[in-house]
Amino acid sequence: MSIRSVALYGQHDLRPFELAAPALEAGGIRMRVALCGVCGSDQRQYFSGPSPRYTLPAVLGHEFAGEITEVGSQVEGFAVGDRVTVAPVIPCLNCDACRRGADNLCQRGLVIGVNYPGAMAEQFYIPPRMVAAGGLALIPPGASLEAAALTELLACCWHGLRQVNPRPGDDVLVIGEGPIAATFIQLLRLMGVGRISVTGLNPFRLKQTAALGADAMLQTDQTPLRDYAAAQHYSPDLAIVAAPAVEDSSVALDILRPGGSLLLFSGYPHDTKLNLDLYKFHYAEKHIHGSVDATIADFHHAVRLLPQVRLPQLISHRFPLENAVEAFQAARTVESMKVVLTMPTQA
Ligand SMILES: [Zn+2]
Ligand SMILES: [Zn+2]
Repeated sequence: MSIRSVALYGQHDLRPFELAAPALEAGGIRMRVALCGVCGSDQRQYFSGPSPRYTLPAVLGHEFAGEITEVGSQVEGFAVGDRVTVAPVIPCLNCDACRRGADNLCQRGLVIGVNYPGAMAEQFYIPPRMVAAGGLALIPPGASLEAAALTELLACCWHGLRQVNPRPGDDVLVIGEGPIAATFIQLLRLMGVGRISVTGLNPFRLKQTAALGADAMLQTDQTPLRDYAAAQHYSPDLAIVAAPAVEDSSVALDILRPGGSLLLFSGYPHDTKLNLDLYKFHYAEKHIHGSVDATIADFHHAVRLLPQVRLPQLISHRFPLENAVEAFQAARTVESMKVVLTMPTQA
């Protein structure tokens, strides 16, 4: 038996692929994928060429949800027909990071769509190791499959906010206008922060993102952040960098109020440096936090939050699996937010 999927063979080379279906193990689960998001990391592999950690041909995709179709004889707590979503990184649970509870930093994990076949496929097999690590979550009744497919975004943003503990009333700056920024804004609203300002370069995305709960938006190629802050005496409590905007990251650090925090959430290219005035940093007692991915606990918390946020509103394009190339191209257009691949419903 094989699974219809699409696989990356190299740069700009995405093709239909018949993935061999693994036999169902006693602790394993098979699911039908309903939809799978095209993530920024998937796009990088397609447009810039796959990084060496990918084994080619690689079935990409780690943002997905669907329905269980087969359950191994020893699986407890899941049944055929259950709607589920899967955490993208399955930690080893045995390394130093995992033992500290920082399983998002596990170096020995299985990463779906990287070193384990991804979900741009009609079916996905959850091996016993993933089931045992708690990487599988039931979708709560108030949430759609579309919302659940984007759980990873929410989990990563939640993980980021846990590093900086926003308080009700805080003035928050969100740098970046994509789906991540839009998710941060919704979470920040839920947490009761005060004024939220969002900055970006793409007016289409900026408008869409701000509409999800920001009070002010700033197009920084027209009004640079530093000028805006000087003119408005703007000094946020917290700044979240959700786009690889290095210059604005350092501006944000400058304009933070004394004691304020900067969250470096976006991915950056290797060797990216931040210019830091150590004198000001020390005497204003500022904080810088990094944040990457999410723990399994964060993922489950995000699943609980699904009914309270509007993740499907981030979806701008839906394409059937066979039009995957078109989907990747759409993801790079100006008027796009989140692009998802939908799978045919088979009997
Ligand atoms: Zn992702
Ligand atoms: Zn580990």
